[in-house]
Amino acid sequence: MKDNILDACFFKDAIKVLNDMWLKGWAERNGGNLSYRLTKEEVEKYIDDTNNKGAFDLPQAIPDIENEYFLITGTGKYFRNMIIAPNINLGIIKIIDGGKKYSIIWGYDDGGKPTSEASAHLKSHAVRKKITNDKNRVIIHTHATNLIALTYVEDLDYRSFSKRLWQMSTECLVVFPEGVGVLPWMVAGTNEIGDATANLMTKHRLVLWAFHGIFGAGESIDEAMGLIDTAEKAANILVKVNSMGDIKQKITDEEFKRLADFFNVMPDKDIINY
Ligand code: 13P
Ligand code: ZN
Repeated sequence: MKDNILDACFFKDAIKVLNDMWLKGWAERNGGNLSYRLTKEEVEKYIDDTNNKGAFDLPQAIPDIENEYFLITGTGKYFRNMIIAPNINLGIIKIIDGGKKYSIIWGYDDGGKPTSEASAHLKSHAVRKKITNDKNRVIIHTHATNLIALTYVEDLDYRSFSKRLWQMSTECLVVFPEGVGVLPWMVAGTNEIGDATANLMTKHRLVLWAFHGIFGAGESIDEAMGLIDTAEKAANILVKVNSMGDIKQKITDEEFKRLADFFNVMPDKDIINY
């Protein structure tokens, strides 16, 4: 007899953050998606994965994540409904067949499928898993309002965009010293935007999609959400600062260096001197 998945910490954590994003106003309609790489032990405690709901093709093979399990939001599902009916709005998949297919081992009870952004999620997981030595397990995509707004008026070069955010709040350089990766507008849900996102994830845990939203990666839900929240808070301040007129003073490069030294972080050199 398996334990009830609704009692699993990873599950409660996921539902809570999805609802938080709804409450923050970042998740209009079905905006945003989340994926959480689960361990075999976590899955086995709650699910018998021989009882699956069939195998389906991934848009492109991702061999590096074969046999991995993901809790992943369903396509077209509303974050505001996650707490009401998680078994319809979420699913757990296992990557099989050399990374070419996935099987649904839990959820999507109305016949649903994983998010249309599965390519960006799964490819980013493959990258983050490798470069963090298996530690990063969570990817969140959300339509954070102020970050999106800034992509209309700020330079989209990652160095200037990141520095503008760093300048808005002292904690930013400490929380994301590698800066925010930025992509130009691309068609959502494609393998191309998935590849481009995963490529930037080799260096950045935050990747901003112009005129669309942000991706954040972390070891835990707290970490991925905290990253996005910190960048979005700085973006909120920058929107206000931009609306008020000329900036009279700001954190200098010299001060950034002192901050980095004190907190023992290595800021991206191209951003500091930019
Ligand atoms: P899904 O409903 O397929 O997850 O898509 C939402 C979204 O944010 C697309 O970028
Ligand atoms: Zn989106």
